[in-house]
Amino acid sequence: MGKPTGFLEYGQKHVPYRDAAERIGDFGEIYTQPDTEHLTIQGARCMDCGVPFCQSDNGCPVDNLIPEWNDLVYQGRWREALDRLHRTNNFPEFTGRACPAPCEGACVLGITDPPVTIKNIENAIIDRGFAEGWVQAHVPENRSGKSVAIVGSGPAGLAAAEQLNSAGHQVTVYERADRIGGLLMYGIPNMKLDKNIVERRIDLLRRSGIEFVTNADVGRSIDPLELRSKFDALLLATGATTPRNLDVPGRSLSGVHFAMEFLTANTKSLLDSNLADGNFISAKDKHVVVIGGGDTGADCIGTSLRHGCSSIVNIELLDEPPQTRAADNPWPLWPKIRRTDYAHAETEARFGADPRVYATGTKAFQDAGDGRVVGVTTNRLKWDLSNGRPQMEIIPGSEALIKADLVLLAMGFLGPEHYVSEPLGIELDPRSNYAAQHGDFSTNVPGVFAAGDCRRGQSLVVWAINEGRGAARAVDAFLCGSSYLPAPGISLGTSAG
Ligand SMILES: Cc1cc2nc3c(=O)[nH]c(=O)nc-3n(C[C@H](O)[C@H](O)[C@H](O)COP(=O)(O)OP(=O)(O)OC[C@H]3O[C@@H](n4cnc5c(N)ncnc54)[C@H](O)[C@@H]3O)c2cc1C
Ligand code: SF4
Repeated sequence: MGKPTGFLEYGQKHVPYRDAAERIGDFGEIYTQPDTEHLTIQGARCMDCGVPFCQSDNGCPVDNLIPEWNDLVYQGRWREALDRLHRTNNFPEFTGRACPAPCEGACVLGITDPPVTIKNIENAIIDRGFAEGWVQAHVPENRSGKSVAIVGSGPAGLAAAEQLNSAGHQVTVYERADRIGGLLMYGIPNMKLDKNIVERRIDLLRRSGIEFVTNADVGRSIDPLELRSKFDALLLATGATTPRNLDVPGRSLSGVHFAMEFLTANTKSLLDSNLADGNFISAKDKHVVVIGGGDTGADCIGTSLRHGCSSIVNIELLDEPPQTRAADNPWPLWPKIRRTDYAHAETEARFGADPRVYATGTKAFQDAGDGRVVGVTTNRLKWDLSNGRPQMEIIPGSEALIKADLVLLAMGFLGPEHYVSEPLGIELDPRSNYAAQHGDFSTNVPGVFAAGDCRRGQSLVVWAINEGRGAARAVDAFLCGSSYLPAPGISLGTSAG
């Protein structure tokens, strides 16, 4: 522990985002660069509490060695901090930017004070590592002679690929999109995760010996059974890509889109032509309604603002969360509180008000008369949470009309598509995900494994990395009889077999 009294002397200070009014003028990242003194002071706030809940089941899903690298940053030993960080996390530059940081919700200092700014410190360590040239490709010294195909190049597929390659297996990643990265590339928008940062890591993985095949739609342009017989093992990491629909009158009107149609096209056009090709759904001068909250809803808001929308409303089905933890949501659980995401702050800067309206249901989309959407009819809802199961009723006479000429549906995802799993005969769980146990990751078909959102359902980047690492260990044990690959929840260097 660097400074025993650090948590008493210093207050919490986050690395600020760029000014909200300024940053909506471009798609550059929202972050600013922290200076070293800022980080040293924030690292000194870590108490070395002895029972670091930031690393518990409620904390970091990849078991990041948080107190160790906080201390190393405080002492200015950045290179060692980077090595510690890479022991548990393949891609800290993704989590350091986009993770909601459950570690901070579980930080022991958070019982009485604002928690340590763990995510900021993680991001600074990896950014410094790249700036100093410390992050290098690692080509394995020996090859095992075994081969693995991975379908899907999101964080789960990429983490598994890096781990399996490090064990000497020849890994080929198949991706149906034209760029590698899954939702890191075509989900999370550029302002939250710059695509050069994604490309930089993929380039390292390529130089480590991993092969990537793009525009490879397994189940359509490539036969999954052929892949299974050509490779010694097959890992499905195809994500939860089936969006939840809102089947109300007017759903088929022009101007009503799934969030991912909007976000994916925007990033592709941005990367292909800096939006000059026009191959995206523009929110310019439009009244935008985003239905659904979460990261996807916030990213639709942030993107619409950057297009220059005329107004924006974000409809949330549930009640407004409390400002502080409720009695049934104590530390170290994830705090279910009202958060102001980057895009909400930007809306406030642009239009003077937060875009969110709570406890609101969507009744219908209104037709302009020519097949285009012109408004959303809503109802106010009353929620009753008293008997453990949320019950909802429509408040009589609460019907309202919100002006809209672009509606974006961001209501979550139902699970993976099944055209890859069906020919292989993969069993599904009751939520339509590929059935496989966490820790084992094996499907009912020998030699076929599943990891990430396609197995656990819609989740987070850090959980996808957790699953990719765990699945790599399971695949390695299947191929070699045992495995020394580290995985979350398992001590480093322990054999599985
Ligand atoms: C808009 C949005 C914003 C988000 N923001 C955040 C955030 O800020 N922080 C956070 O932690 N999480 C965020 N998430 C969630 C996070 O991105 C996912 O949980 C994570 O990417 C899941 O990783 P994955 O590898 O399992 O799947 P994905 O990232 O979904 O990757 C799956 C890949 O498989 C490919 N694929 C599917 N089928 C086939 C096939 N048949 N053949 C070949 N390839 C195929 C897909 O094209 C895709 O590239 C966000 C999600 C969305 C939608
Ligand atoms: S990966 Fe997420 S949970 Fe883990 S230390 Fe980083 S910010 Fe915290």
